[in-house]
Amino acid sequence: MASSSGTQNVQPTIASASVGVAEVAKNGRGMKTDPAWEHGVMIDEATRRVRCNYCLQEFTGGAYRLKHHLARTSKDAKSCKLVPDDAKKAMEILSMA
Ligand SMILES: [Zn+2]
Repeated sequence: MASSSGTQNVQPTIASASVGVAEVAKNGRGMKTDPAWEHGVMIDEATRRVRCNYCLQEFTGGAYRLKHHLARTSKDAKSCKLVPDDAKKAMEILSMA
């Protein structure tokens, strides 16, 4: 006879309440999140040309060069003569990281 008994109730499994802890990853593609960009602007992304907000000097090297310029490490960039002391200190820490 007809042996099709399709009356199986699929019980919905109660999903364990997953609390979405969204960790914001600052590293990765979003290079504009670098704190160095508070003190300078990217003029040309292709050549990584940046300009210092304080002395308005332009140089290539992106955020890395900008940090050393502001931190006045004279490591890879000319030192900034107009950077405020607090900004210099912040960049100093960043450039050492
Ligand atoms: Zn500067």
